[in-house]
Formats: sequence, structure tokens, C-alpha cells
Amino acid sequence: MAGSKQKNIVNALLTVLNVEKLSHSFIRINFSCDEQLTVNPLWICPHLKLLFAEPSTGKIIFPQLDENNKIVINDKIRQLVRSYSIRHYDETTQQLTIDFAIHQEGLASVWAQQAKINDQIGIVGTAAKLMFNQQSLVLIGDITAVPAICYTLEHLPNNVTAQAFVEVNHSTDIMALPANPNANVSWLIRDVNQPNQFIEAIKKANIVNSDNLLIWGGMERDLAQQIRHTLKDKYPNLPADAFHIISYWRQGFAEGEFKHRE
Ligand SMILES: Cc1cc2nc3c(=O)[nH]c(=O)nc-3n(C[C@H](O)[C@H](O)[C@H](O)COP(=O)(O)OP(=O)(O)OC[C@H]3O[C@@H](n4cnc5c(N)ncnc54)[C@H](O)[C@@H]3O)c2cc1C
Repeated sequence: MAGSKQKNIVNALLTVLNVEKLSHSFIRINFSCDEQLTVNPLWICPHLKLLFAEPSTGKIIFPQLDENNKIVINDKIRQLVRSYSIRHYDETTQQLTIDFAIHQEGLASVWAQQAKINDQIGIVGTAAKLMFNQQSLVLIGDITAVPAICYTLEHLPNNVTAQAFVEVNHSTDIMALPANPNANVSWLIRDVNQPNQFIEAIKKANIVNSDNLLIWGGMERDLAQQIRHTLKDKYPNLPADAFHIISYWRQGFAEGEFKHRE
């Protein structure tokens, strides 16, 4: 099974252990978690939902589960939840690493810039939509997808190949990855004078069109729409479920104010 969403609710507390300015765009934060997280080693680009404290009380109020064990998310909680990727998780120590791409405003971005040891936030749960299953993977992302793509390339099984295309903000955002003959990564650095360089690179990319091609993307919503159209034009015979291009964020909108899949 490659594409049915797996979700695990945990409603746990994360405590900051370490804060590191990793690069021009990233702050890396290591947390300890007071519960064991479910992270399947076969998950592609696994992510989680962070829950921030209510601004008026400073308290973290976890969502409840209904009688069917489904999580109840109301508007108040939705405004305090943000999606991030698992950059690293150590089951033995229950320590979690998240890389925050910093931008001017935003609950999570501001919190990460001010974070200090012992600060706490909540984690609602972990999830992934896709699992490794002998695919030829294509991974495409902007700065916000760097953690997910790096994690996935670091966990690539021997029977999966990957081509990744990533556009970062600055040369220091290019991450060192272990050498792997099955993985190939093309890094681009954003250039205000060439706003279309990424989409042009995807158009020209020599992607091997095999039976088990799976194209995953995480990026700003307008770019996601362009890339979806470009790739569907380029590979008209690929089935719809070969494409998973997700709007990770949307210019001018906070998370919760737009849909991730349009
Ligand atoms: C499954 C998934 C996994 C993700 N993983 C990561 C991850 O590991 N690391 C990561 O950094 N992000 C990741 N993101 C993206 C992140 O959730 C969004 O960038 C989110 O909007 C940040 O929340 P915020 O509270 O800082 O800003 P919000 O309150 O959501 O937005 C406030 C304003 O900031 C703008 N904004 C949001 N993100 C950016 C940005 N990157 N650059 C410029 N402006 C922005 C919005 O357009 C809005 O105007 C992921 C998203 C998804 C859906």
C-alpha cells in the first residue's frame, strides 16, 4: 500500500532541549517528548501537528477524541496548530528534531525564533500519506520541504530510487546528505531576477517515466499549482494517484486558512 493516510494521535508535550541556528533560513530545535511517538520507518515525508499555547492563558489545551476515537478540532484549536516535518526521531530517547524555516510573521516562526531550553509546546500526532513500496520517487520542494525531503532521502530503502529537486533561499540552506547511488538531488538557490527558474528546471528535468513513478511535492500553494499542471502535461498517462503535490503554505494566509491539496 503506497497511498492511504496513516495518522496517530498522541496529544503529548514537547520540551525544548536545544536550539541551533542551522543556516540562513533554518532554526533546528531538539525536543524531548513525554510520550512515545509512532513513526513508521517506511513513511515517506512524515509530518506532525504542533499545538501552541493559547495566547491569553499560556496554556496548551489538547483536542479531545469523540466516541469513535476521532479527534475533534474546533476553530480555536485550528488556529493554534501548525504542520511540520519530522527531521529526526530517536525512539530510544524519545527525542524529536524539527527544522523551522524562518519567515517574518507566523505563530510557529515567531515561537521558534524566541524558543529557549525548557519551553514547551504540544504535539497532537504524527502522520504520513505515503509509504516506500519499490517506487521511483520524485521529490520536489521549496525551503519548507527541505526537512521532509532530507528525512526521506536518509531513510531510502535499497529498492527505492529518488530524484529530488529543491529550491532553497540561500547557499547555506543546502544540506549535506549521505552519498547514495540510488538518490540524486538538484539544489537551486532562489534568485529574485529569475522567479521562474524552479518551474523551468522541473519542465526540463529528465525524469525517468517508469511504471512505479511517484511524484511528491511540498511548497507554496501557487508554485504547487503550477508544478501540478506542468507535470500532468508532461506525463499525461500517469495515473492521478502518482501525483502528490501538497501546498505546504500559502502566501498571505496562515495555516488553517487554505486547503493543502488545491
Ligand atoms: C505536511 C507539512 C509539513 C511541513 N513541514 C515543514 C517543516 O518541516 N519546516 C518548515 O519550516 N515548514 C514546514 N511546513 C510549512 C509550515 O507549516 C508553514 O510554513 C506554516 O505556515 C508556518 O506556520 P507559521 O505559524 O510560522 O505561519 P502562519 O501563521 O501559518 O502564516 C503567517 C504568514 O506567514 C506566511 N508564511 C508561512 N510560511 C512561510 C514561509 N515558509 N516563508 C514565507 N512566508 C511564510 C504565510 O503566508 C502567512 O502570511 C510544512 C507544512 C505541511 C503541510
